[in-house]
Amino acid sequence: MNAPSHEKQIKLSEELQVLEVFWCPYARFRSDVTSVTSDRVPEDRNLCLLDHLVLAFATGNHGWTTAATMQLEGEKIIHLTLAMNGNPSDEDRHAATALLELLHGSTGQSDEAFIHYLRRYAAPHLSNVIQEVGLRLSSFLEREFPLSEVKWTVDSDELPGLEEVQKSYNRHEGQHISDYVRALFHALHSKIQELQPCTIQSVRNASNDHIRSILFLAHHLSRARALQTLYTSRNKDLNIVFIGLFRYRLARLGQYHTIMSAIIPSFQNSNSKLTVEWLHDAAHMQTIRLLRKPVQISLEAIPKPTVSIYDVLPNDEKEQEEIMVGMMEYLQWKDVVEVSVHPEIRLILAAQSSTLPLVGVSDGPCACCRHWIRSCKGKKWKTSHGPPHLDWTWKLPGHDRRLDDAVCKEVSSVLTSEVCIEINRGWN
Ligand SMILES: [Zn+2]
Repeated sequence: MNAPSHEKQIKLSEELQVLEVFWCPYARFRSDVTSVTSDRVPEDRNLCLLDHLVLAFATGNHGWTTAATMQLEGEKIIHLTLAMNGNPSDEDRHAATALLELLHGSTGQSDEAFIHYLRRYAAPHLSNVIQEVGLRLSSFLEREFPLSEVKWTVDSDELPGLEEVQKSYNRHEGQHISDYVRALFHALHSKIQELQPCTIQSVRNASNDHIRSILFLAHHLSRARALQTLYTSRNKDLNIVFIGLFRYRLARLGQYHTIMSAIIPSFQNSNSKLTVEWLHDAAHMQTIRLLRKPVQISLEAIPKPTVSIYDVLPNDEKEQEEIMVGMMEYLQWKDVVEVSVHPEIRLILAAQSSTLPLVGVSDGPCACCRHWIRSCKGKKWKTSHGPPHLDWTWKLPGHDRRLDDAVCKEVSSVLTSEVCIEINRGWN
């Protein structure tokens, strides 16, 4: 293993942070664009199970992501290796033990016990997911997204599990499915509003029934055909990125319902056994001091000379800088950052030959992890789905210089194109 150069890491961290906090937190890497088709492989059952399990184990402490790989020992034993951005605390270990007891059926009624587990151990992660859904749901309802423009078909096709939903949420006689779906979105919105501000404490203080209703509605609404229709619509007035993110977050929240109603009971009713271990490697975290300011990083990303760009900038350098400073003054810029080799990469590097080439990630892999994984030669790893997002805590793994350089090059090129696009728009 060659330690990546310190300068290379600083430049990468500067560029990632400026991209994430200012230019475009959902910037797409070229590999994200080109792999859309190749990713459409039939759903892997083991990856699906791993994805549910990793979400169940994610406590969200310190805002960290949890990742997991899987080994199968015979037909009955599933062994998970778990890792977080940092090393797990005692609280994370206790959480894992409590969840294992639940999965093995030693803590009584599963619904109640799982929600109790979530409120006790996973409230940081759960409150975060609820909050994100709440914010997007408010915008979705405020903008009155054109649910009315959707061509509605057979009721049960519009909302899978409609009968079950109707048992809990009354549907007026003769109420059109579009009005009913809209009423359900409003019901979810009110349930989330009751938790406002949605904090770790408000999730802990909420009743089990309250949390159960949120998970139930999120699960069913994320499968509403109308959302899929809006997402694939060619209507240029629709913000497809917004709809895609909203649907993803909703589905992630609803996944807790699936864990509670399907995954845990199936474990409890089978003789399957789940074992877990934590990955421990001390040297993957590092605190670094950045050298450049956002203005300088952005200006230095602009290729020179590019006539079209410099045409729209004032000639005077001082004035150029003032524009940038004016735009960036509200930024929460950090000069000192803590970076770590992300857990999914550490798990891949530590994988044994019997480990399945699957990695579950509680919040979906970030753009750098995806790019690194896709650039790997040999074993082709599949990861959880999720929208591409940047994460400036990304540390160069230093395992293979070719892979490190591939990520650095991609980040620099994405920064250049995002800055140029914005400048060509005339700073609006
Ligand atoms: Zn990552």
